[in-house]
Amino acid sequence: GTDEVDIVARLGGDEFALLLPGKDVADAQRFAYAMQHALELPMTLQGHVVDVRGSIGIAVFPEHGTEGSTLLRRADIAMYAAKRDNCGAAVWDQGEDKQSSDRLSLLSDLRKAVDNDELTLAYQPKVALRGGGGELYAEALVRWRHPTRGLVAPIEFIPFAEQTGYIRAITQWVLAHAIAQCAEWRFDGLPMNVSINLSARDLMDATLPDRFAALLQRHRCAAQWIALEITESAVLDDPAHAIRNLERLHALGCRLAIDDYGTGYSSLAYLRRLPVHELKIDKSFVIGMAADASDALIVRSTIDLAHNMGLSVVAEGVEDDATLDRLRAMGCDMVQGYLLSRPLGVAETAVWMRGSVWTRPVSEIPTLRRVV
Ligand code: C2E
Ligand code: CA
Ligand code: CA
Repeated sequence: GTDEVDIVARLGGDEFALLLPGKDVADAQRFAYAMQHALELPMTLQGHVVDVRGSIGIAVFPEHGTEGSTLLRRADIAMYAAKRDNCGAAVWDQGEDKQSSDRLSLLSDLRKAVDNDELTLAYQPKVALRGGGGELYAEALVRWRHPTRGLVAPIEFIPFAEQTGYIRAITQWVLAHAIAQCAEWRFDGLPMNVSINLSARDLMDATLPDRFAALLQRHRCAAQWIALEITESAVLDDPAHAIRNLERLHALGCRLAIDDYGTGYSSLAYLRRLPVHELKIDKSFVIGMAADASDALIVRSTIDLAHNMGLSVVAEGVEDDATLDRLRAMGCDMVQGYLLSRPLGVAETAVWMRGSVWTRPVSEIPTLRRVV
């Protein structure tokens, strides 16, 4: 009707609010459905086709609250539920409140984690089975020392930081520290190469290559000492932006690796079109391969295909000798896992790298292995 006014407001970042006067839950759901549908149509921005998606949370007066602030908060909670369940739109429900207050408090804590200096990096060694050329390798893995919860695993806050956009601050912190550390090790005479994990959101950030280049320069770190690990699903989230960023990072001279390979749906042929150097076979296949013939087959054929495409292969999650022996027989280039070493602190990493039998020529390893 002519007396109805719909109000659209931008709450900040990529969040918008819509006020639908006089509508009930069913109306709002229909409206959300229509909006999802409209968003699915490809949009053209300055000549680029972009994919836009959204998650919608619904809260209704007076069932879900009588105050504007309560309704907004509950719509926000429902929106996170929609995002989490990947269902497009969700209506607020009571049960979400407890969970979400936990999450909100973790989020407000996370916002302070960088400023309060609560993040640290652990480094997990990677060992070359073939032709490491005296170089040493480790992957930087972030850790959060929460003041009251203790150590929080990345799996508990990285996906969450991704959803809220705070991942940008975390990634910037991780890049700065890992790059500075790599340069310091080099300065101390350790020929270290450090791998750093990037998330899907990082790959869409057009400022990432410049920020990365600036950090390399500031810390006098060579680009070829750094490898960036990305998952195939991160690339597939938004291929156009991801590929543009990957090409710029590649042009800077760093190495690029596909992480968790085998858990997504992409074919090697598709991945080969990306400027990647390395494939990391997901640990779920590696952990099982000594006991499970089909896991072993997947690992073997991935290694063969990757080699045919000129990619180097890393197996992560190597936990026992039998697995290591099979990987070596299959021609796997590098291994990483608890058998070789857990993620270590900075000082421990240097000690491990200087003293480990694993970093000596392969021929010495079988007899010395038990010494570790
Ligand atoms: P990922 O990149 O696949 O890292 C490997 C994970 O497997 C690490 O867990 C590592 O500690 C664990 N792991 C290593 N060897 C073994 C093994 O032999 N057996 C088993 N069962 N596990 C092993 P972590 O450190 O908890 O990291 C989990 C995930 O969190 C990482 O998976 C990565 O996706 C993410 N992550 C960690 N640090 C960062 C970061 O700085 N930035 C981003 N964006 N993500 C990160
Ligand atoms: Ca990784
Ligand atoms: Ca992985």
